[in-house]
Formats: sequence, structure tokens, C-alpha cells
Amino acid sequence: MIVVGGGPAGATAATAVALRGHRVLVLEQQTFPRYQIGESLLPSTVHGVCRILGVEDEVARAGFKVKRGGTFRWGRNRDPWQFSFALSPRLADPTSFAYQVERSRFDAILLDNARRVGVDVRENCRVKGVLADEERVRGVSWSGPGGELREARARYVVDASGNGSRIHTEVGGSRTYSDFFRNIAVFGYFAGGKRLPKPNDGNIFCAAFDEGWLWYIPLRDDLTSVGAVVSRENAAGIQQDPAAAWRRLIDSCPEVRDLLDGVPQATEVPYDQVRVRKDWSYWKSRLWRPGMVLAGDAACFVDPVLSSGVHLATYGALLAARSINSGLAGALDEGRLFDEFEARYRQEYRLFYEFLVSFYDMHQDERSYFWKARKVTNVGATELEAFVELVGGLASGDATFGGLGEAGARLTTASSELDTAVGRLPDSDGLRNPLFESATIRQVFQEGAVLQERGIFGGPLEEETPVRPGGLVASEDGLTWTDPDRP
Ligand code: FAD
Repeated sequence: MIVVGGGPAGATAATAVALRGHRVLVLEQQTFPRYQIGESLLPSTVHGVCRILGVEDEVARAGFKVKRGGTFRWGRNRDPWQFSFALSPRLADPTSFAYQVERSRFDAILLDNARRVGVDVRENCRVKGVLADEERVRGVSWSGPGGELREARARYVVDASGNGSRIHTEVGGSRTYSDFFRNIAVFGYFAGGKRLPKPNDGNIFCAAFDEGWLWYIPLRDDLTSVGAVVSRENAAGIQQDPAAAWRRLIDSCPEVRDLLDGVPQATEVPYDQVRVRKDWSYWKSRLWRPGMVLAGDAACFVDPVLSSGVHLATYGALLAARSINSGLAGALDEGRLFDEFEARYRQEYRLFYEFLVSFYDMHQDERSYFWKARKVTNVGATELEAFVELVGGLASGDATFGGLGEAGARLTTASSELDTAVGRLPDSDGLRNPLFESATIRQVFQEGAVLQERGIFGGPLEEETPVRPGGLVASEDGLTWTDPDRP
């Protein structure tokens, strides 16, 4: 198998296939450690995927900041509230946390682990194109560190080359960009900053303000990642002078500005720059074709407010690896294996997309252009249509996903359910987390919880059932698919 890109998606796919004894080549255009945004993780990545890959202990030893959840200044209530990962915040179980990671270090740990299990990782090697015939993709063309052009062939190619993938169009054509999440982010780092009161001092803090929202991520005692997410219409102004725009946006949000009072901007490389990213929420009409699959940001991405990027990337890559492992073993029909990958990946993407639309809808600020445009009622028919077709379409065979009207109604219900659950927080006894009484929240974390159970107990606590008629279920080690009708 050939994997293009050595980020979290690439490292996950590569390791999970090598663990089953197959030969794997990773081609990565940069030299690690390299900078990447996306520092706030979810528990499913740490206790699920990392454990399945055999790298959880090493990640734990790296000393990353422990994240127990998110703190939000968001919604009706002017006071910040906690989104704790624990079902019972007072009796927090030992896996209801994640980490805030410097991605350069985290990604390098994952890629080194891939090397350790036998993956041939080549850095400074850029993939230029895909080798294919009428039947299937057969390999890639790439250039090595000296610029020499080479070709490599394999049964499967995984495109895990991220948001800037040059080969994703080989599967399912171009991306569909979300209008609802047409945002732009401008972000940089401070050499310190106040921390939230313990035990939430490692939480991500997200604060809504007039023009959008800000993230505040404590990476180390002397390093804080701060980013502003605003409407795409501001792109020209931001790109003209990102550092000035970043400072101005922070100054417009008192909750974040006060945490940074008197703290200097970071000067250490690579945290000395203010960076910009735009147009990041998109999906594709297909995620595989014979011989090639897309995983991680190469496949799809949706807004970062819930820190779902690395989860979706590693989860999608694990699903792809299961299909590839089963395909290489010749166990089941290839179409069935990769349809399973695609159906589950879409389902997970849909849950996060819907959750995030509802989460944006929950914030109320009638005076603000940004927030008025991000109401459920502003999810345009074109976007909903595309969404229903792509996410619930034939490919997934997901019978629970209805038409346009049903999708709109579900978004509205989810938003008011979220609002009610957050409203219950102040009366909580701390024993039960009222947020998990919301079906929307339970659903969005359900697959992550199954991943964690698989990592910790070697399988889910309840017998896994297929997610669709005729579907497959994961093997005990989580690395292949099995047919529940042919045990
Ligand atoms: P990447 O991490 O981008 O890795 C792709 C790799 O492929 C790179 O190393 C690249 O060098 C390599 N590559 C590219 N092209 C080629 C080529 N032609 N040949 C060889 N190699 C190639 N996620 C979270 O979980 N938490 C967050 O808090 C969060 N915040 C975010 C904030 C913003 C503003 C944005 C835009 C995203 C955020 N994300 C967050 C998302 C997160 O950054 C991504 O989802 C995640 O990095 C995806 O991992 P990946 O492995 O798919 O891609």
C-alpha cells in the first residue's frame, strides 16, 4: 500500500495496515517535525485510535496539556459553561480526557510509531500524480529529495495529503464547499497567558463575539494558541495584514483579551508567525474508487469549533485501513468493503456537520451579521440538497437520512435540544453530565466511545451491529471487517 502524506490520517492508515503484516510506503513532502494547525484533540483519538496503533503510552509520556473538555462563552448565557467529556464530572473516569498538542510533536510521534511497526516512511518526497488504467489506480508518480522523478506501484493508494491534496480529484471529482461555514481563520501564539480555574485549566476556551468566535488553547504554561474565526467576507482585509487583524479581533473580545493582558506574542519558531486559513468545510461525492481511497482532510472537513478534525481524520483512516486489510486478505468483495468505509465515514461526518450547524444556531446575537447568517434557517436549500445527496445518498444506503425537509427539521430540533441541555448545566449536581442527556450530543460522541472501548477493552462493550442493512462490523482488534452473517 502507498500512503500519500504522513499527517495523522496517513500515519494511522499506514500503521493499521502494517500491523497486519503488509508492506507500506509513506511519501511525505515535508521533513518532520513540521507545523500544522489543529491542536485540540478529542478522547476517541487518544484512547481509541492511539491505543489501537500502540502509541497511546508514548503520547501520554510526551507531557501534553490534559484537556478535560471545552469551556464556552456561547449561547444565551453570558457566563462561560463547561462541556466536560466526563459522563459524571465529579467522578471523572480515567479516559474522559484528551490533550492539547503541539502538532509538530504529536504528528512526529505518530509517524515514528509507523516506522517502528515497519512502515517505509520517506520524507521530502512529493507525490505528483496517480498511475491508473481503466480498471483501477495502480500507484503514484513522485519526486524524491534530489528532484528525481520516480514511480511506485501498489494494490492500494491512500490519499492522506490533507487540505492541500493535489490528487483528491482522482476520486469523485472536485469538492463541494459549505456556504454555511464559509469562514476564515487568523491565528497565532502568545508566550503564556492566564489559565482557567482548575480542573479546567487545560480546556479549550471558545468565546463568541460580534464578528465570530475565538479559540484559546493552552499548549504549555508558556505557550497559548489563539485564533479568530470570522466571516469569509473579511478575507481581503485579513490577508492584507494578518497580524494587525488578529490583534484587532482579540481586542474586540474582552473574555479572551483579559486572559492575555500584558502577555507578549511568542517569538519561538514556528510559533512566531500569524497565519491564515480559509475555505475549509467541504465534502466529496465519492471517497473511493478501485485502488484508491481518501482519508482525513483530503476527503472532507467541517469547521473546527468542536475539535473534530483529527478525530475525523484518524477515524476515516482507520476505516480505510480496515477495508484495505480485508481487501489484501481477499476475504470479502472489494466493493462491499469500501462501501462500508464510505458509509461509516459519511455517517460520522454528517453527525458532526449537523451538530456544528446546531451549535452555531444556538448562539444568539441579533445585532451581528456573522451570527444572523449562521442560523439553521440560513442553511440554504442548495447546501441542504447537496448535503442530503452526498451524505445520505445511495453510497451510504443510510435509510435513516431522509429528504430536504427532514434534514432541516432535524437541525432545528437538534439546536433547541442543545440549548435546553446547556440551560440545565447551572442546576447540575455534578454527578450526571446534563449535556449527555441530549440525543444530539450522545450521537456525536457515540462512535468515538465505541473506538475508546475497542482500544481499552479490545472490543466494544455491546456487540456491534451493522450500521446499515447488509453492512459489516469491525474485527476484534479493530483492524479489519467481518461479515456478521458469516462469523
Ligand atoms: P494533514 O495534517 O494536513 O497532513 C497532510 C500531510 O500530507 C502533510 O504533512 C503534508 O506535508 C503532506 N502532503 C501534502 N501534499 C503532499 C504530496 N503531494 N506528497 C506528499 N505529501 C504531501 N482539528 C482538531 O482536531 N482540533 C482543532 O483544534 C483543530 N483546529 C483547526 C483550526 C483551523 C483553523 C483549521 C483550518 C483546522 C483545524 N483542525 C483542528 C483540523 C486539523 O488541522 C485537520 O483536520 C488535520 O490536520 C487533518 O489531518 P490529515 O492527516 O488529514 O492532514
